[in-house]
Amino acid sequence: MSKIVFFSIYAHGHTNPTIEVVRELVNRGNEIVYYSFSEFKERIEDAGARCICCDEYLPELKKEDEKKVGKDFSLLIDMIVDTTLALDEKVCSELKDFNPDCIVSDSLSFWGKLFAKKLNIPYICSTTTFAFNEHTAKMMNQGFREIFSMILGMGRIYKKIKLLNESGYDIKHFTDIVKNDNDTNTIVYTSKEFQPMVETFSDKYYFVGPSVSDKVYKINLKTRKQIYISLGTVNNKNISFYKNCINAFENCDIDVVMSVGKDTDIKILGNIPNNFCIKNSLNQIEVLQNSDVFITHCGMNSVNESLYYGVPMVLFPQQSEQRMVAQRVFDLGAGSMLKKNNIDYIKKITLEVMNNDKYKENAISLSKTFHRAGGAKKASDAILNIIDTNKC
Ligand code: UDP
Repeated sequence: MSKIVFFSIYAHGHTNPTIEVVRELVNRGNEIVYYSFSEFKERIEDAGARCICCDEYLPELKKEDEKKVGKDFSLLIDMIVDTTLALDEKVCSELKDFNPDCIVSDSLSFWGKLFAKKLNIPYICSTTTFAFNEHTAKMMNQGFREIFSMILGMGRIYKKIKLLNESGYDIKHFTDIVKNDNDTNTIVYTSKEFQPMVETFSDKYYFVGPSVSDKVYKINLKTRKQIYISLGTVNNKNISFYKNCINAFENCDIDVVMSVGKDTDIKILGNIPNNFCIKNSLNQIEVLQNSDVFITHCGMNSVNESLYYGVPMVLFPQQSEQRMVAQRVFDLGAGSMLKKNNIDYIKKITLEVMNNDKYKENAISLSKTFHRAGGAKKASDAILNIIDTNKC
């Protein structure tokens, strides 16, 4: 039996794929402690881990920064360093007592990596986006590169590094924390076939495919097609887009399921046509199993889940990382880009993706690579093998 500690950030997309890995590891008799947040406690405990909630250690967000979450990378970095420093004393002391065999930490919850380094505990990176190195960085569009280099040059980031150094963390450059490298064992929740420039990554990268629950939901015996629409769980208050979707499909012989996010007031959307089901949040896995096309913001998890069930997509990315994911889906022929938030255009592109079989066929080809990749079982094998190798 091994003792394993997980860390993730306050984000569904970064937590969801790890849940089934935790369940699998617990089922194999391992003891898991998961540092997370109250929003995810129930699901983590349901998977069999002990959840330690870190909500009170999250830095308080200034009003003017609220809209930037998920968009401004430098704000993210700032928050991550502050969280690391806030958690330092508590977590390091708990880790010394628990004495884990390894730490599995999300690629953005840098604090997990830092604690592992400080306490000399084996570290495994968990990446819910594409794996990222200097080669794939070149694929990022200008916007992201600019922001990235801006971060590296920012004085306040270096002040933060100084603070990390003063707390016993041996960090010379911020890239020491941010970069994936070919020497670090890294679980990546997508397939080799979907990862861009996969040949540039070492065999320490385990491309396990999406870690989605095996649960098969009842497939609705429907007579007409179904569109699913979601902009994810972070930047989803796009009222004009939701209204345009309602107008685009209100008179169509198609069912539409729309998830608008917890903070969107559904009443603002006005009259809801009979063929629409609109919720603040729903079981996306269940809906995807019953959908013919997914209009998505191209968060990595949403795209992975859609492809897992062979559902072609209308690609509506909102930020640079999502644009990279969208481009990959487009290049592999499993979706079409929605370049304008406009009623006629939304309808035209969606019907094209729904009615042209080539999108579905390409989504199914990728789905096969995802199923072959092994998911949570393969991720658990990798984690346990790495622990065994370290013990030898
Ligand atoms: N999700 C869900 N219900 C919803 C909307 C989203 O369960 O109504 C889940 C979805 O299955 C996915 C995650 O939330 O696992 C969203 O992650 P993604 O990376 O796609 O986008 P983000 O929310 O991080 O922008």
